[in-house]
Amino acid sequence: MTAFARSVAAAAGASRAAGVARATEAAVAGANGATGAAARDLRIVRTVAELRALLAPERRAGRSIGLVPTMGAFHAGHRSLMARARAEHDVVVVSLFVNPAQFAPNEDLSAYPRDEARDAEIAAAEDIDVLFAPPVEEVYPDGFATTVSVGGVGEPLEGAHRPGHFDGVATVVTKLLNMVGPDTAYFGQKDAQQALVIRKLARDLDLPVQIEVCPTVREPDGLALSSRNAYLDDDQRARAVALSRALRAAEVAVAAGERDAAAVEAAARAAMASHDVEPEYLALVDPETLAPVDRIGREVLVALAARVGPARLIDNTLIQTNGRT
Ligand code: AMP
Repeated sequence: MTAFARSVAAAAGASRAAGVARATEAAVAGANGATGAAARDLRIVRTVAELRALLAPERRAGRSIGLVPTMGAFHAGHRSLMARARAEHDVVVVSLFVNPAQFAPNEDLSAYPRDEARDAEIAAAEDIDVLFAPPVEEVYPDGFATTVSVGGVGEPLEGAHRPGHFDGVATVVTKLLNMVGPDTAYFGQKDAQQALVIRKLARDLDLPVQIEVCPTVREPDGLALSSRNAYLDDDQRARAVALSRALRAAEVAVAAGERDAAAVEAAARAAMASHDVEPEYLALVDPETLAPVDRIGREVLVALAARVGPARLIDNTLIQTNGRT
């Protein structure tokens, strides 16, 4: 039992947790016949009021809180963030919310993979304390009218190809940070631009939270894990390796001494083409500002997006030269 579970059990015993969803919904209890101690500890919470009722005594007791925001369909990438948060905090909240505001009308909101029972099982196995899985109307009640919009780093790349996407991300992450009030929130380097947008909004809005960015978890052949990989059939899955191969080609070119960004980009594009995948964008940019780079200095971010069958996939690599030319 985690410290959090012990304190919730004590609070429940003292009737202080009245109104808070007690441990198990069928999702957890029934998931794979989960009977382990960890599974018994997971709380699934649907409302902000329940969440605050659970977390306020923890904060008063001086216990630290980590938050992992997700859209569910958990894979090893999500699990790496959960494990890091678990290692670093007394109480870990994982949010599971497929955020309509970050999908354009023509995107895959309705097709996005959803399996809360499986996700709850995985969260329990990672010893997570709270799975915050609110319904849409809890996050966006009637009359909701506020948008958080991050200029600069939110504008190029994904921002240019998915208009409004980062407004949706920034708005929901701001809300989640305010709902949970974590000491630290964890994000993946897989979504490098998203991580920059969130760092920027936290700094610009003086949010008292530390933003941690965790390395990208990959399949053995290099494909970055993504919930959207579930859309790929066998042939598409084979071609999807184009993205990580392109990044690898860029790394190899830089390691061989190439510093001309156009030449590195050409090597990456050739690797993609050889797998019959066309990039939506493939760019060498400054890792902090996302401004295009002509000559590669100490470091460069190579970021790309491509459609493979029904899936729109993104990936990136941060290449460091340590000033070597
Ligand atoms: P999502 O559920 O796709 O919104 O992702 C939730 C969090 O997991 C985000 O911070 C992502 O950047 C992160 N994430 C997604 N895929 C990976 C991966 N392959 N490795 C590490 N983190 C990831």
